[in-house]
Amino acid sequence: MRRLMTILAPLIVLFAAWALASKAELYSEAVQSLILVVPYIIAVLALFMSVWYQNSNSFYLVLFILVSHIFIVVSQKKIPMLNEATTMVSILLPLNTLWLSFSKERGVFSSYGRKKALIILVQLVWIFIFIMIKSGVPVTSDMAETFKGIKVPAVVIYIISVGLLLSCYILKSVNMNIIYVAVLLASVISLYFANRLILSSIFTSAIFVIVVIALFDVSYSLAFYDPLTGVYSRRALEQELLKLGNKRYAIAMVDLDHFKKINDTYGHDIGDEVLKMVASVLQKNSGHGKVFRYGGEEFVILFSRTNYNEIMPLLERIRRAVERRPFIIRADNRPAEKPDKNSITSSAGKGKINITISIGVAQKTDLMKSCFDVIRKADEALYKSKNSGRNCVTKI
Ligand code: GH3
Ligand code: MG
Ligand code: MG
Repeated sequence: MRRLMTILAPLIVLFAAWALASKAELYSEAVQSLILVVPYIIAVLALFMSVWYQNSNSFYLVLFILVSHIFIVVSQKKIPMLNEATTMVSILLPLNTLWLSFSKERGVFSSYGRKKALIILVQLVWIFIFIMIKSGVPVTSDMAETFKGIKVPAVVIYIISVGLLLSCYILKSVNMNIIYVAVLLASVISLYFANRLILSSIFTSAIFVIVVIALFDVSYSLAFYDPLTGVYSRRALEQELLKLGNKRYAIAMVDLDHFKKINDTYGHDIGDEVLKMVASVLQKNSGHGKVFRYGGEEFVILFSRTNYNEIMPLLERIRRAVERRPFIIRADNRPAEKPDKNSITSSAGKGKINITISIGVAQKTDLMKSCFDVIRKADEALYKSKNSGRNCVTKI
Protein backbone atom coordinates (compact mmCIF):
# COMPACT_ATOMS: atom_id res chain seq x y z
CA MET A 1 0.00 0.00 0.00
CA ARG A 2 2.76 2.41 0.99
CA ARG A 3 4.79 1.39 -2.06
CA LEU A 4 1.79 2.16 -4.24
CA MET A 5 1.36 5.56 -2.60
CA THR A 6 5.01 6.39 -3.30
CA ILE A 7 4.32 5.94 -7.00
CA LEU A 8 0.84 7.45 -6.98
CA ALA A 9 1.60 10.65 -5.05
CA PRO A 10 4.14 12.11 -7.56
CA LEU A 11 1.96 10.92 -10.46
CA ILE A 12 -1.03 12.78 -9.03
CA VAL A 13 1.10 15.93 -8.65
CA LEU A 14 2.23 15.64 -12.29
CA PHE A 15 -1.36 15.18 -13.53
CA ALA A 16 -2.57 18.08 -11.40
CA ALA A 17 0.22 20.27 -12.82
CA TRP A 18 -0.74 19.19 -16.34
CA ALA A 19 -4.43 19.96 -15.71
CA LEU A 20 -3.55 23.38 -14.29
CA ALA A 21 -1.10 24.13 -17.10
CA SER A 22 -3.57 23.27 -19.87
CA LYS A 23 -5.60 26.41 -19.12
CA ALA A 24 -3.09 28.50 -17.21
CA GLU A 25 -2.40 30.99 -19.99
CA LEU A 26 -6.10 31.88 -20.07
CA TYR A 27 -6.28 32.74 -16.38
CA SER A 28 -6.60 36.31 -15.16
CA GLU A 29 -3.47 38.36 -14.62
CA ALA A 30 -3.86 38.14 -10.84
CA VAL A 31 -3.94 34.33 -10.93
CA GLN A 32 -0.97 34.24 -13.30
CA SER A 33 1.04 36.48 -10.97
CA LEU A 34 0.21 34.14 -8.13
CA ILE A 35 1.38 31.12 -10.17
CA LEU A 36 4.69 32.88 -10.79
CA VAL A 37 5.47 33.19 -7.06
CA VAL A 38 4.34 29.69 -6.07
CA PRO A 39 7.66 27.95 -7.00
CA TYR A 40 9.59 30.22 -4.61
CA ILE A 41 7.22 29.58 -1.71
CA ILE A 42 7.28 25.80 -2.10
CA ALA A 43 11.04 25.81 -2.71
CA VAL A 44 11.61 27.63 0.59
CA LEU A 45 9.43 25.04 2.33
CA ALA A 46 11.36 22.20 0.67
CA LEU A 47 14.71 23.77 1.65
CA PHE A 48 13.54 24.31 5.22
CA MET A 49 12.33 20.71 5.52
CA SER A 50 15.56 19.40 3.99
CA VAL A 51 17.59 21.22 6.64
CA TRP A 52 15.18 20.04 9.35
CA TYR A 53 15.65 16.40 8.33
CA GLN A 54 19.31 16.96 7.40
CA ASN A 55 18.64 15.69 3.89
CA SER A 56 21.47 17.18 1.84
CA ASN A 57 20.47 15.46 -1.39
CA SER A 58 17.05 17.09 -1.54
CA PHE A 59 18.50 20.38 -0.23
CA TYR A 60 21.10 20.76 -2.98
CA LEU A 61 18.79 19.45 -5.70
CA VAL A 62 16.08 21.97 -4.76
CA LEU A 63 18.69 24.73 -4.50
CA PHE A 64 20.04 23.95 -7.97
CA ILE A 65 16.55 23.83 -9.51
CA LEU A 66 15.46 27.01 -7.73
CA VAL A 67 18.48 29.05 -8.91
CA SER A 68 18.15 27.54 -12.41
CA HIS A 69 14.52 28.65 -12.44
CA ILE A 70 15.61 32.17 -11.47
CA PHE A 71 18.09 32.15 -14.39
CA ILE A 72 15.25 31.16 -16.73
CA VAL A 73 12.99 33.87 -15.34
CA VAL A 74 15.58 36.63 -15.81
CA SER A 75 16.43 35.38 -19.31
CA GLN A 76 12.84 35.63 -20.59
CA LYS A 77 13.34 38.94 -22.40
CA LYS A 78 16.47 37.87 -24.26
CA ILE A 79 16.16 34.65 -26.28
CA PRO A 80 19.93 33.90 -26.67
CA MET A 81 20.24 34.00 -22.87
CA LEU A 82 17.19 31.78 -22.47
CA ASN A 83 18.56 29.30 -25.01
CA GLU A 84 21.87 29.17 -23.17
CA ALA A 85 20.22 28.74 -19.75
CA THR A 86 17.87 26.01 -21.01
CA THR A 87 20.68 24.11 -22.75
CA MET A 88 22.99 24.14 -19.73
CA VAL A 89 20.30 23.42 -17.13
CA SER A 90 18.79 20.60 -19.20
CA ILE A 91 22.19 18.86 -19.27
CA LEU A 92 23.23 19.52 -15.66
CA LEU A 93 19.89 18.90 -13.96
CA PRO A 94 19.53 15.19 -14.84
CA LEU A 95 23.23 14.64 -14.11
CA ASN A 96 22.87 16.26 -10.68
CA THR A 97 19.71 14.29 -9.95
CA LEU A 98 21.47 11.06 -10.82
CA TRP A 99 24.57 11.96 -8.78
CA LEU A 100 22.56 13.02 -5.71
CA SER A 101 20.34 9.94 -5.92
CA PHE A 102 23.43 7.76 -5.53
CA SER A 103 25.24 10.03 -3.10
CA LYS A 104 25.46 9.11 0.60
CA GLU A 105 23.43 11.09 3.11
CA ARG A 106 25.68 12.76 5.68
CA GLY A 107 23.92 15.99 6.55
CA VAL A 108 23.49 19.34 4.82
CA PHE A 109 26.28 21.38 6.41
CA SER A 110 28.76 18.63 7.34
CA SER A 111 32.10 18.63 5.51
CA TYR A 112 30.62 16.04 3.11
CA GLY A 113 27.56 18.28 2.63
CA ARG A 114 29.78 21.31 2.02
CA LYS A 115 31.56 19.44 -0.80
CA LYS A 116 28.18 18.91 -2.46
CA ALA A 117 27.45 22.62 -1.96
CA LEU A 118 30.73 23.51 -3.69
CA ILE A 119 29.97 21.29 -6.71
CA ILE A 120 26.49 22.82 -7.09
CA LEU A 121 27.82 26.35 -6.60
CA VAL A 122 30.52 25.94 -9.26
CA GLN A 123 27.89 24.74 -11.75
CA LEU A 124 25.55 27.64 -10.97
CA VAL A 125 28.36 30.19 -11.35
CA TRP A 126 29.34 28.51 -14.63
CA ILE A 127 25.76 28.77 -15.96
CA PHE A 128 25.55 32.38 -14.76
CA ILE A 129 28.76 33.35 -16.60
CA PHE A 130 27.59 31.75 -19.85
CA ILE A 131 24.20 33.46 -19.63
CA MET A 132 25.90 36.79 -18.99
CA ILE A 133 28.12 36.30 -22.06
CA LYS A 134 24.94 35.78 -24.12
CA SER A 135 23.34 38.89 -22.62
CA GLY A 136 25.75 40.99 -24.67
CA VAL A 137 25.03 39.21 -27.96
CA PRO A 138 23.14 41.54 -30.31
CA VAL A 139 19.92 40.02 -31.67
CA THR A 140 20.45 40.34 -35.40
CA SER A 141 18.91 37.32 -37.08
CA ASP A 142 15.57 35.57 -36.79
CA MET A 143 17.41 32.45 -35.59
CA ALA A 144 18.60 34.29 -32.50
CA GLU A 145 14.99 35.18 -31.75
CA THR A 146 13.64 31.64 -31.66
CA PHE A 147 13.56 29.53 -28.55
CA LYS A 148 15.33 26.27 -29.33
CA GLY A 149 14.14 24.21 -26.35
CA ILE A 150 15.93 21.11 -25.13
CA LYS A 151 18.73 19.78 -27.34
CA VAL A 152 19.27 16.13 -28.32
CA PRO A 153 22.25 15.43 -25.95
CA ALA A 154 20.11 16.59 -23.00
CA VAL A 155 17.22 14.36 -24.09
CA VAL A 156 19.63 11.40 -24.22
CA ILE A 157 20.97 12.21 -20.71
CA TYR A 158 17.40 12.46 -19.43
CA ILE A 159 16.46 9.08 -20.93
CA ILE A 160 19.59 7.38 -19.53
CA SER A 161 19.01 8.93 -16.07
CA VAL A 162 15.36 7.86 -15.92
CA GLY A 163 16.36 4.37 -17.12
CA LEU A 164 19.06 4.01 -14.45
CA LEU A 165 16.81 5.29 -11.66
CA LEU A 166 13.97 2.99 -12.68
CA SER A 167 16.33 -0.01 -12.85
CA CYS A 168 17.59 0.76 -9.34
CA TYR A 169 14.02 1.12 -8.12
CA ILE A 170 13.09 -2.27 -9.57
CA LEU A 171 16.26 -4.00 -8.33
CA LYS A 172 16.66 -2.40 -4.89
CA SER A 173 13.14 -1.07 -4.14
CA VAL A 174 14.48 2.31 -3.02
CA ASN A 175 11.35 4.49 -2.99
CA MET A 176 13.36 7.67 -3.31
CA ASN A 177 14.36 6.66 -6.87
CA ILE A 178 10.73 7.05 -7.96
CA ILE A 179 10.76 10.56 -6.51
CA TYR A 180 13.87 11.40 -8.56
CA VAL A 181 12.21 10.00 -11.71
CA ALA A 182 9.18 12.21 -11.05
CA VAL A 183 11.48 15.21 -10.51
CA LEU A 184 13.13 14.50 -13.87
CA LEU A 185 9.78 14.21 -15.67
CA ALA A 186 8.50 17.48 -14.17
CA SER A 187 11.79 19.25 -14.91
CA VAL A 188 11.96 18.15 -18.54
CA ILE A 189 8.43 19.53 -19.10
CA SER A 190 9.33 22.71 -17.23
CA LEU A 191 12.41 23.23 -19.43
CA TYR A 192 10.47 22.39 -22.59
CA PHE A 193 8.20 25.32 -21.71
CA ALA A 194 11.04 27.58 -20.55
CA ASN A 195 9.84 30.36 -22.90
CA ARG A 196 6.28 30.18 -21.48
CA LEU A 197 6.94 31.22 -17.92
CA ILE A 198 3.53 30.37 -16.51
CA LEU A 199 3.79 26.75 -17.67
CA SER A 200 7.43 26.49 -16.62
CA SER A 201 6.53 27.84 -13.15
CA ILE A 202 3.73 25.30 -12.73
CA PHE A 203 6.01 22.36 -13.46
CA THR A 204 8.86 23.79 -11.37
CA SER A 205 6.34 24.08 -8.50
CA ALA A 206 5.37 20.45 -9.16
CA ILE A 207 9.05 19.45 -8.67
CA PHE A 208 9.15 21.16 -5.29
CA VAL A 209 5.79 19.71 -4.23
CA ILE A 210 7.09 16.22 -5.09
CA VAL A 211 10.21 16.84 -2.96
CA VAL A 212 8.10 18.12 -0.04
CA ILE A 213 5.90 14.98 -0.21
CA ALA A 214 9.05 12.82 -0.28
CA LEU A 215 10.39 14.61 2.80
CA PHE A 216 7.11 14.03 4.64
CA ASP A 217 7.43 10.38 3.65
CA VAL A 218 10.99 10.31 5.04
CA SER A 219 9.79 11.78 8.35
CA TYR A 220 7.02 9.18 8.51
CA SER A 221 9.54 6.40 7.87
CA LEU A 222 11.84 7.77 10.57
CA ALA A 223 9.03 7.53 13.10
CA PHE A 224 7.38 4.29 12.06
CA TYR A 225 10.15 2.14 10.61
CA ASP A 226 13.29 0.81 12.21
CA PRO A 227 16.17 2.20 10.13
CA LEU A 228 18.44 -0.83 10.62
CA THR A 229 16.11 -3.72 9.88
CA GLY A 230 13.34 -2.01 7.87
CA VAL A 231 10.57 -3.57 9.98
CA TYR A 232 8.06 -1.42 11.91
CA SER A 233 9.39 0.52 14.90
CA ARG A 234 8.31 0.35 18.53
CA ARG A 235 6.40 3.59 18.07
CA ALA A 236 4.40 1.97 15.26
CA LEU A 237 3.63 -0.94 17.63
CA GLU A 238 2.29 1.46 20.26
CA GLN A 239 0.01 3.08 17.69
CA GLU A 240 -1.16 -0.28 16.39
CA LEU A 241 -1.98 -1.53 19.90
CA LEU A 242 -3.98 1.61 20.65
CA LYS A 243 -6.01 0.97 17.50
CA LEU A 244 -6.73 -2.63 18.54
CA GLY A 245 -8.16 -1.63 21.94
CA ASN A 246 -10.29 -4.47 23.28
CA LYS A 247 -10.21 -6.62 20.16
CA ARG A 248 -8.77 -10.14 20.12
CA TYR A 249 -5.05 -10.32 19.37
CA ALA A 250 -1.86 -12.14 20.35
CA ILE A 251 1.66 -10.89 20.86
CA ALA A 252 4.78 -12.94 20.23
CA MET A 253 7.97 -11.62 21.78
CA VAL A 254 11.04 -12.82 19.88
CA ASP A 255 14.58 -12.59 21.27
CA LEU A 256 17.85 -13.70 19.68
CA ASP A 257 19.74 -16.25 21.74
CA HIS A 258 23.25 -15.39 22.97
CA PHE A 259 23.34 -12.34 20.73
CA LYS A 260 25.85 -10.58 22.96
CA LYS A 261 28.34 -13.34 22.16
CA ILE A 262 27.85 -12.78 18.42
CA ASN A 263 28.69 -9.10 18.93
CA ASP A 264 31.64 -9.90 21.17
CA THR A 265 33.02 -12.51 18.79
CA TYR A 266 32.40 -10.99 15.38
CA GLY A 267 31.93 -7.31 16.13
CA HIS A 268 28.96 -4.96 16.17
CA ASP A 269 28.72 -4.62 12.39
CA ILE A 270 28.21 -8.34 11.90
CA GLY A 271 25.75 -8.22 14.80
CA ASP A 272 23.79 -5.60 12.83
CA GLU A 273 23.81 -7.78 9.72
CA VAL A 274 22.54 -10.73 11.76
CA LEU A 275 19.69 -8.57 13.10
CA LYS A 276 18.77 -7.57 9.53
CA MET A 277 18.76 -11.17 8.41
CA VAL A 278 16.62 -12.36 11.32
CA ALA A 279 14.18 -9.47 10.72
CA SER A 280 13.80 -10.51 7.08
CA VAL A 281 13.23 -14.17 8.05
CA LEU A 282 10.54 -13.03 10.53
CA GLN A 283 8.91 -10.83 7.86
CA LYS A 284 8.84 -13.62 5.31
CA ASN A 285 7.42 -16.24 7.66
CA SER A 286 4.96 -14.30 9.80
CA GLY A 287 1.93 -14.68 7.54
CA HIS A 288 -0.66 -12.07 8.55
CA GLY A 289 1.41 -11.12 11.65
CA LYS A 290 3.10 -7.70 11.69
CA VAL A 291 6.75 -7.58 12.72
CA PHE A 292 8.10 -4.73 14.90
CA ARG A 293 11.54 -4.13 16.35
CA TYR A 294 10.84 -3.78 20.04
CA GLY A 295 14.39 -2.75 20.92
CA GLY A 296 17.93 -4.19 20.78
CA GLU A 297 17.69 -7.79 19.61
CA GLU A 298 14.02 -8.16 20.50
CA PHE A 299 11.16 -8.22 18.02
CA VAL A 300 7.40 -8.35 18.47
CA ILE A 301 5.03 -10.10 16.10
CA LEU A 302 1.48 -8.86 16.43
CA PHE A 303 -1.34 -11.14 15.32
CA SER A 304 -4.73 -9.47 15.26
CA ARG A 305 -8.04 -11.38 15.37
CA THR A 306 -6.37 -14.68 16.21
CA ASN A 307 -5.73 -17.18 19.01
CA TYR A 308 -3.06 -19.63 20.17
CA ASN A 309 -4.32 -22.56 18.10
CA GLU A 310 -3.79 -20.65 14.90
CA ILE A 311 -0.43 -19.11 15.66
CA MET A 312 1.50 -21.73 17.63
CA PRO A 313 2.32 -23.84 14.52
CA LEU A 314 3.26 -20.64 12.66
CA LEU A 315 5.62 -19.52 15.44
CA GLU A 316 7.20 -22.96 15.50
CA ARG A 317 7.81 -22.63 11.75
CA ILE A 318 9.37 -19.19 12.28
CA ARG A 319 11.67 -20.59 15.00
CA ARG A 320 12.78 -23.38 12.68
CA ALA A 321 13.22 -21.03 9.73
CA VAL A 322 15.73 -18.96 11.75
CA GLU A 323 17.49 -22.07 13.03
CA ARG A 324 17.89 -23.43 9.49
CA ARG A 325 19.21 -20.22 8.05
CA PRO A 326 22.83 -19.71 9.12
CA PHE A 327 24.41 -16.29 8.72
CA ILE A 328 27.21 -16.49 6.16
CA ILE A 329 30.16 -14.21 6.86
CA ARG A 330 31.44 -12.77 3.61
CA ALA A 331 35.21 -12.41 3.16
CA ASP A 332 34.99 -8.61 3.29
CA ASN A 333 33.29 -8.50 6.69
CA ARG A 334 35.33 -11.18 8.45
CA PRO A 335 36.72 -9.89 11.77
CA ALA A 336 40.41 -9.01 11.97
CA GLU A 337 40.96 -11.47 14.79
CA LYS A 338 40.08 -15.12 14.51
CA PRO A 339 36.92 -15.81 16.53
CA ASP A 340 37.11 -17.87 19.68
CA LYS A 341 35.62 -21.24 18.75
CA ASN A 342 34.13 -21.85 22.16
CA SER A 343 32.44 -18.52 22.42
CA ILE A 344 29.19 -19.32 20.61
CA THR A 345 27.21 -22.35 19.63
CA SER A 346 28.08 -22.01 15.98
CA SER A 347 30.42 -23.13 13.29
CA ALA A 348 32.60 -20.11 14.07
CA GLY A 349 35.66 -19.77 11.93
CA LYS A 350 34.00 -21.60 9.03
CA GLY A 351 32.31 -18.33 7.97
CA LYS A 352 28.92 -19.42 9.27
CA ILE A 353 27.02 -18.36 12.40
CA ASN A 354 24.12 -20.49 13.51
CA ILE A 355 21.39 -18.33 15.00
CA THR A 356 18.47 -19.33 17.18
CA ILE A 357 15.58 -17.41 18.69
CA SER A 358 13.39 -17.85 21.75
CA ILE A 359 9.74 -16.89 21.57
CA GLY A 360 7.13 -16.05 24.24
CA VAL A 361 3.45 -15.66 23.34
CA ALA A 362 0.45 -14.17 25.12
CA GLN A 363 -3.05 -13.44 23.90
CA LYS A 364 -5.44 -10.68 24.96
CA THR A 365 -8.06 -11.91 27.40
CA ASP A 366 -10.84 -10.07 29.21
CA LEU A 367 -8.78 -10.19 32.40
CA MET A 368 -6.03 -8.10 30.86
CA LYS A 369 -6.77 -4.42 31.15
CA SER A 370 -4.39 -3.04 28.56
CA CYS A 371 -1.95 -3.97 25.85
CA PHE A 372 0.88 -3.50 28.37
CA ASP A 373 -0.48 -6.48 30.31
CA VAL A 374 -0.33 -8.60 27.14
CA ILE A 375 3.24 -7.48 26.47
CA ARG A 376 4.20 -8.26 30.08
CA LYS A 377 2.72 -11.75 29.77
CA ALA A 378 4.52 -12.35 26.44
CA ASP A 379 7.74 -11.24 28.16
CA GLU A 380 7.14 -13.72 30.99
CA ALA A 381 6.61 -16.48 28.41
CA LEU A 382 9.84 -15.48 26.71
CA TYR A 383 11.67 -15.68 30.02
CA LYS A 384 10.35 -19.23 30.38
CA SER A 385 11.64 -20.10 26.90
CA LYS A 386 15.08 -18.80 27.90
CA ASN A 387 15.00 -20.85 31.09
CA SER A 388 13.96 -23.96 29.19
CA GLY A 389 17.22 -23.94 27.26
CA ARG A 390 16.35 -21.34 24.56
CA ASN A 391 15.45 -22.01 20.89
CA CYS A 392 11.81 -22.79 21.75
CA VAL A 393 8.30 -21.27 21.82
CA THR A 394 6.36 -20.87 25.09
CA LYS A 395 2.81 -19.61 25.59
CA ILE A 396 1.15 -18.23 28.71
P1 GH3 B 1 19.94 -14.23 25.76
O1 GH3 B 1 20.03 -15.51 25.03
O2 GH3 B 1 19.69 -14.41 27.22
O3 GH3 B 1 18.92 -13.31 25.16
O4 GH3 B 1 21.34 -13.53 25.67
P2 GH3 B 1 21.76 -12.28 24.81
O5 GH3 B 1 23.24 -12.22 24.76
O6 GH3 B 1 21.06 -12.29 23.50
O7 GH3 B 1 21.11 -11.10 25.63
P3 GH3 B 1 21.72 -9.81 26.30
O8 GH3 B 1 20.55 -9.00 26.73
O9 GH3 B 1 22.75 -10.17 27.33
O10 GH3 B 1 22.45 -9.05 25.14
C1 GH3 B 1 21.81 -8.37 24.14
C2 GH3 B 1 22.86 -7.74 23.29
O11 GH3 B 1 22.29 -7.16 22.13
C3 GH3 B 1 23.58 -6.64 24.00
C4 GH3 B 1 23.68 -5.52 22.99
O12 GH3 B 1 24.99 -5.09 22.82
C5 GH3 B 1 23.18 -6.15 21.72
N1 GH3 B 1 22.48 -5.21 20.87
C6 GH3 B 1 21.36 -4.49 21.15
N2 GH3 B 1 21.01 -3.74 20.11
C7 GH3 B 1 21.90 -3.96 19.14
C8 GH3 B 1 22.09 -3.46 17.79
O13 GH3 B 1 21.30 -2.65 17.27
N3 GH3 B 1 23.12 -3.94 17.08
C9 GH3 B 1 24.00 -4.85 17.60
N4 GH3 B 1 24.99 -5.28 16.82
N5 GH3 B 1 23.88 -5.31 18.85
C10 GH3 B 1 22.85 -4.89 19.61
MG1 MG C 1 18.93 -12.18 23.46
MG1 MG D 1 17.09 -9.31 24.91
